[in-house]
Amino acid sequence: MGDDERAIERAVDLIGASNHAVVLVGAGLSAESGIPTFRGAGGLWTKVGEPSMNGYEQFLRDPIRWWEHQLSPEADPARTEFREAIDRAEPNAGHYALVSMEKLGVLKMTITQNVDNLHVRAGAVRLVEIHGNRTKVRCIGCEARWPREAFDYEELPPLCPECGSLVKGDTVMFGEPIPPSVIDACFRESAACDCMIVCGTSATVFPAASFPRMVKENGGTLIEVNPNPTPLSDMADVTLRGPTGELLPEVVKRLSYWTI
Ligand code: NAD
Ligand code: ZN
Repeated sequence: MGDDERAIERAVDLIGASNHAVVLVGAGLSAESGIPTFRGAGGLWTKVGEPSMNGYEQFLRDPIRWWEHQLSPEADPARTEFREAIDRAEPNAGHYALVSMEKLGVLKMTITQNVDNLHVRAGAVRLVEIHGNRTKVRCIGCEARWPREAFDYEELPPLCPECGSLVKGDTVMFGEPIPPSVIDACFRESAACDCMIVCGTSATVFPAASFPRMVKENGGTLIEVNPNPTPLSDMADVTLRGPTGELLPEVVKRLSYWTI
């Protein structure tokens, strides 16, 4: 048995023996669907620079301007290119492997930092989208969500029919608090978690980066799936060094024997 094979077996043992396995996902899971990550080689921010760090403040100051910018494709060609990559993307073998783990009953929750809707399209049900979902809009007052097409944008800014507050894209901006129901679910799941599988995230964006650390402090185990080392690698009980689209299906194949 090679080292890679041994690592997969060990990951399967840890997941199979767990009571509450949770996956934490980052942009790397969608890389094989053709969506660039933000950081690193080929990353969007590496190419066009980091976005403004006070996006939410700008939105609150002038929501009409923000919406006009959103609705105009010429406003920001590089980011339009990113949006078009997401529009073309299909879920990959990694997304489907996570859904299979959910169906086997071993995966209790997926916490994703991705906003691309690919988990939903692959069939995920037990899902927390910590940075929102780009196909939706959300009320900043009562946290109601709707599909983007639910509003007509003739009159800006769109307002919540329930509470009258501003409606914005569901994607969480810099400086914007994570919506309360979402952050609560993340902490509840991480507190219950005894095995966290960290897939395709550099684990540098907080609060998501704190969840694996919390699991470790509570005596749980960590499995990392990433072709590159991250600040979490030293803490991981098992590291699967490679793309999630290749390695997660290998884990699922063996897990299905385990759970028969
Ligand atoms: P990141 O860009 O900081 O890091 C990506 C990680 O993925 C790296 O560690 C890299 O080694 C790894 N990776 C690259 N290819 C991989 C593959 N095939 N399989 C597994 N791992 C692979 O991403 P992040 O940690 O998620 O943080 C960036 C933030 O940007 C997130 O908060 C997220 O909201 C957002 N984002 C979302 C999308 C999306 O929705 N698809 C895309 C880009 C960024
Ligand atoms: Zn509302």
